[in-house]
Amino acid sequence: MKYEELLERAFRELPKKRITGGERFEIPKVVVQREGNRTIFRNFSQIARIINRSEDHLFKYLVRSLGTAGFLEHGRLVFQGKFTQDEVQREIEDYIKRYVICRECNAPDTELVKEERVLMIRCLACGAKYPARGLNI
Ligand SMILES: [Zn+2]
Repeated sequence: MKYEELLERAFRELPKKRITGGERFEIPKVVVQREGNRTIFRNFSQIARIINRSEDHLFKYLVRSLGTAGFLEHGRLVFQGKFTQDEVQREIEDYIKRYVICRECNAPDTELVKEERVLMIRCLACGAKYPARGLNI
């Protein structure tokens, strides 16, 4: 098990403490840079960590919803094609609405769990659990 996974597990097993400490959750800002026909999402890993989601899931969502291909490199996501910072920001905001913020209580303290191949969102703040309404990834 990787160090990050250990940390994550330790964090998850803490008593139900909210990651936001009751403060308003702020959507992180993406940093995007163009290089020729590619677009580099420079703080990809950092954002995945802030919103407490796996890089793999966030990566699949972004390439699917932007309709392109890409790969991960040193914590950055390299997209084929030209995208603006605003376009990538919008996708991150959509992702957070679909997969991070609890629809019942608006807390960001949720986790994704698979139940019989259905991706569910479980809220650690209010206990709600419901299927994610997103792409089938
Ligand atoms: Zn909730």
